[in-house]
This record gives sequence, structure tokens and C-alpha cells, in this order.
Amino acid sequence: MNQVPTREIFLHFSLWMQLVFYAVAGIASLIFLYGFFRRVQKYRRGRKVNRFDNLGKRIARAVKTIAAQSTVRKRDNFAGIAHFLIFWGFTFLFIGTTIVAIDHDILRFFDISILQGTFYLIFSFVLDIWGLLFLVGLVLMAVRRYIMKPPQLDYTRADDQNGKYDRSGFVTDDTIFLFLLFVIGVTGFLIEGFRIAENMPEFERWSPVGWWLAGMFSGMDAASLISWHKWMWWIHAIFVMFFIAYIPYSKVMHIFTDTANLIFYDDMAARRLPPLPDPEPAEGKKNALPPMGYTTITDFTWKELLDFDACTKCGRCHAACPANAAGTTLSPRDLILDLRTFSNEVLTPKEWFKQKFFKGSKWPLVNGTSADEALKIDVPLKVIRPETLWSCTTCMACVENCPVGIEHLTSIVQMRRHLVDIGELDDNLQNALMSLGDYGNSFGQSPKARAKWTKGLSFKIKDARKEKVEYLWYVGDFASFDPRLQKISQKVAEVMHAAGVDFGILYDAEKTAGNDVRRVGEEGLYEMLVEDNIATLKKAKFQKIFTTDPHTLNTLRNEYPEFGAEYPVEHYSSLLLSLIQSGRLPIKKKLGYKVTYHDPCYLARYNRVINAPREVMKAIGLELHEMPRCGVNTFCCGAGGGRIWMDTSNEKKRTSEQRIEEALSLGDIQYFITCCPKDYTMYTDAVKASGNEGKIEVKDLIEFVAEALDLQPAEKAEAAS
Ligand code: SF4
Ligand code: SF4
Repeated sequence: MNQVPTREIFLHFSLWMQLVFYAVAGIASLIFLYGFFRRVQKYRRGRKVNRFDNLGKRIARAVKTIAAQSTVRKRDNFAGIAHFLIFWGFTFLFIGTTIVAIDHDILRFFDISILQGTFYLIFSFVLDIWGLLFLVGLVLMAVRRYIMKPPQLDYTRADDQNGKYDRSGFVTDDTIFLFLLFVIGVTGFLIEGFRIAENMPEFERWSPVGWWLAGMFSGMDAASLISWHKWMWWIHAIFVMFFIAYIPYSKVMHIFTDTANLIFYDDMAARRLPPLPDPEPAEGKKNALPPMGYTTITDFTWKELLDFDACTKCGRCHAACPANAAGTTLSPRDLILDLRTFSNEVLTPKEWFKQKFFKGSKWPLVNGTSADEALKIDVPLKVIRPETLWSCTTCMACVENCPVGIEHLTSIVQMRRHLVDIGELDDNLQNALMSLGDYGNSFGQSPKARAKWTKGLSFKIKDARKEKVEYLWYVGDFASFDPRLQKISQKVAEVMHAAGVDFGILYDAEKTAGNDVRRVGEEGLYEMLVEDNIATLKKAKFQKIFTTDPHTLNTLRNEYPEFGAEYPVEHYSSLLLSLIQSGRLPIKKKLGYKVTYHDPCYLARYNRVINAPREVMKAIGLELHEMPRCGVNTFCCGAGGGRIWMDTSNEKKRTSEQRIEEALSLGDIQYFITCCPKDYTMYTDAVKASGNEGKIEVKDLIEFVAEALDLQPAEKAEAAS
């Protein structure tokens, strides 16, 4: 007689054993629910922020990302493949276990069984294959973590804290997580093997791994098989129950926090910073005025508290961070983990394995501090520390690289706002901000001097306030006042003029657009600049804006619309490309130089302008050799986020010099091309400071375009310094 393919769920289990199992499962579930509830309570103590808009689209975006594991695979194929196998293996095994539970604990009481016949055979096959792939994924992950040891998995802090900290808990947590999953997977297969080996029914060939194991156990007698089956079942069950209870207190919680984070993250994070915190008072400050940025832990939004828990310590942000590469105390990973440790201490959900700090560490130990006192601790001053926050170049590499949608940069700027508010900033920066407030530029020069560079031109640039133009050129501070860059601005003007572009500038009415002022954390000044600039723009007559400055591009394009000023804004490289493609810039000679190109962070990463400069280079015959870090993976020059105005002596090795070395490592490169005024100044300085003069020359893209057009050299157009 043919046996109906199926299996008995509690094979060889007496009723009391089944009851013990359900009791243990109940206890594990209660521990899980308690921990989960404490986490949710913690998030509810954060400031409100609306991330429930377009919820359907948000969920669809998260499902797509998680299903394809696209953010994990991005830039790390090995980890991506391993995680893909673990994720999908775990998902199939979870679905399988849920089907078993429904079949046995619910449908059985209605005399229904789905786990039989063809469905059972397919069920067995799919689960065996994915169970095996799950184990393969775990082995790959273990090989990566314990044998390959990529540097981003080294948990050494960026600020060494003189060794007065202990992060071995992180390592233990990672290891327990991998170990638990591996043991659960292996014992699951062993149970199957012992069960099948009892009578080797033919249909169990549909469980290929179980069948293979059963073949190995087939020499054992029936009593031993039953005994081993029972033991293995209990070991498996105990590990599963421990796993369930462990979830909210450990790294395993990322299954939930990362899913939520990928639903609720802001895809404009960093590109568009939030206004000052919602005036709704934070907990315990019912009558307080809204803070200028974040002071205490409850000033962070619930999404930021979720961010802290979502971090899996993958270290991608840490490895990509230029501030970390420069040897400052900032690592975006450490910043998030420190905020996690602190928020868990203060807002009480306990982690079982956390970082610890010893006496003498600069970390303010909250042990012994009452919960009420800890709630008042000034986080930017005492938990993260000003030096660390001021080291950020706002390059956005952390946000770009984070696979789970953490918005480090927003939190950093919110904390900087508080530092600005209490005057905790260096003198150079203070002076730059004062100049910006007084004159509308960071050079401390009269607005009348802004357009001096136009004096040496062979033609007069239109004044967009007085004459109608197609393009308004928003020139920016560096391109207007820095003598080295004035020559480049003149070249831009000459090229646009040669192409017959109808353009004008705002002359002395232009003020800095404010991108970096905002990222420094001086929101009040930023808003003042925006208001002034919008008033000026409203009076001007133009259709579109172009700018040579990617920082200006970012704020005009992504932030001004929130203030009611929405204009089409493009970078001059995009405009140059369309002029070349439309034949308005006839290329007279192909240059043939060997060059490399540095993607500005605010152009490539913030605004995804990657191809236009390359296409321009191709059109004028430059031979481009890419540096390893290019496109959205570009490396920062170190000037952004107001760093160009600060004392940067805390950098052990400047990122601009590291970048020049990266370019030189390509060998035989004549020119290092930029298309950002700040990059130009940083890299010309870096070539000198690193003693590489004569080996490589920094040039702006426009200099080559002018040469390829065979324009009369703009020497007539002398720098108007
Ligand atoms: S924005 Fe750049 S410098 Fe700042 S923390 Fe992120 S990666 Fe580091
Ligand atoms: S913040 Fe994101 S990128 Fe950085 S370590 Fe955590 S999960 Fe990884």
C-alpha cells in the first residue's frame, strides 16, 4: 500500500512532553514580547516626525530592497551573497515552521491537514534546499568574519579612548547570533535525518538533505534512532526558544529594526536637511522653548532612536568616512553605536552585550546617574563631544553606504546646531559665520567686490536683475572671491559667451546660497540668507539657473523649494554637455591628455551628476583614468560641511593629500580634474603640501573645454583680485 506523504509533528512525544514544549515556548514568547515592548516604548519617547506619508510606497520600496537584498549587495558582493542566502533561507524556514504550526495547532482541530500529499513533497523539497543554502550563507559569513576579517569589521573605536573601553560584547553578540542560526539549521536537518532513517519511506527522497543524512544513520537500531531523534528535537527546540527570547536584547533585533528603518527612511536624507526641530516640546520640557538643535536624548526623533538600534555594525560607513580616514575622532559607526548605548542606558531597554567604558574614559559614565539626571545630559557636549561633531565634512558617504537607511548626517547637523547655539565652535568658523552674516560671503569682502572678476572679460556679463536672461549663473563665494578661482570663472564666462548662451549674474546682490552654513548648523543664518536670496531671485528675470558650485547646486535644487523657490538648477558640466551635443560648442581639437577626475561629493553623491563631466571629457578627447573611488563612491576633499572654514589640525592625514596619492598611484597621469571650486583650492593646496608639484597638476574642467575650443586665452581677463 502506498503511504500518503506526510509526517507526524510530535513523533514519539508524550502529552506531558508536548505540554513542556508549549510552556517553554510561552515563556520565550513572553520574554520576547517584553523586550520588544520596551523597544517600542523607547521609540515613543523620541520627538515626533512624520514618516507615515506615502506608507504604501514606503512599504513597497522596503519590500523590494529587502527581497533583492540590494543595499547589502551594493559594494560588497561577498557579504551580499552570504546575507541573501541567510535571509531567504531563514525566511523559507520561518514560513515552513509557521505552516507546520498552523497545520498542527489550528487546522487539526477542524480535521484539516495541508501537510500531506503533493504539497508536503514540494514543501519538503523547498525547505531542504533553502535550509542547505541557509547553512552555506552562514558558513560564508563566518569565513568573512573570522578568516577574511575585512577592516570594517574591526570594532576599534576611531577615538581610541586610551583603551578604556570594551567592545568584546559586540563580538560575542555577533558570534552568538551566527552560532544560534547555525545550530538551529544543523539540528533541524539532524532531526529530519533520524526521523527518516526509522523507516526510510521512498517519498522522503523529496527531502534530499534529510534523505542523505538518514542514509548515514541507517545502520543504527530503531531504539537509538528514536532516542537520538528525541534528543535532537529538544536541543533544536531549546535553541529556537532561546533565539526567540534573545531577539529584542541583541543583534537579532535588526530583523525588525532594519525592516522598519527601510520603510521609514527619508530618501532625501542629507540632501535636504530638516528645519529646526518640531516645536512640540520634548519629554520633560513641556514648558521649554523648542531647542536650537538637539541637546538631550529625547530631542532625537523616534526615527533616529530607531536608527541607533538598526545599526548592524557592518562598518561600511566607518570604512568610507573621510573624517575617519583623516584620523579624527569621528566614525559614523561609532557615533551611532555610542548614541545607541547611551539611549539604551537612559531610556532603559537593556542590551545583553553592549560596549562598556571604564574609569578614565572620556565617555560620561551614566552608571550611578539617576534616570532623571541622565535625561538631562547634554548629548553633543558629553556623549559625542564637539571635536567629533565638527570633524564631519558632510560628504554623505555614511548615508550612501549604510545598507539599512540610517541618517547619520541629519543627527550630526542637529547636534551641531546646538553647539552653534551655545557657542561651542572654533574661532575660524565663528569669524566665517560672522562674515557671512555681515557681508553675505565668507571672505569678509564687501558685496561690491563680488563681481570684480568680471572686469577683465572681453564682454560685459548681463545683470540678471536688470535684463532678461535665459540662464542665471549663481557664481558662489569661492568662484567670486578666491583669486585662483576667479581665473576659472572668467574661463566659464568666455566659454558660455562663445556658445552664445544668454546668461547673467546677480552682481553684488548675490549672497552665498547657504548650503554649508546650514550644514555647519547655523540654521538661523541659513534661513536669513535664503530669504535674502529668494527676494533677489524674485526680482531677477531668468528661466533657469546654472552654477559652477555643487554645494550651491544642492541647496538651490533640493532645499530652496521648501522655502517656496523652485527653479530648474543645473551644474555647468551638464550645461556644457548639452552645448557640445547641440553643436553650440564646436570642438576644434582633441586634447589627448591623460587625466583623472575627482567626483565632488555634492555633485556625484548628493545630486547624481556623474556622466556629464565624463561625457564632456570624452568629447574633447581627454583620456580618462578612473581612480578606485569614483562616481557615488567618490572620496571627499575634506572641505565640505564648513570644514574649509575650520581649524582642521585634528586631521592626522588630510583627505585631499590621500586623494592626490590615489591619483598618483594610477601612474603617468598629467592632470587631476575637478569641477568644484572648493575641490580646486583643496587639491592645489594638497599637491603643494604633499610635495607633488610637477608630478600632477590640478585643473578645472572648463580649462580644457576652453583649450579644445581654441578660445583666445583668457589672459586678457586677468584675475581681479
Ligand atoms: S558625512 Fe562623511 S564625514 Fe560626515 S560622518 Fe558621514 S562619512 Fe563621515
Ligand atoms: S551605521 Fe549603517 S553602515 Fe554604519 S555600521 Fe551601522 S549599519 Fe553599517
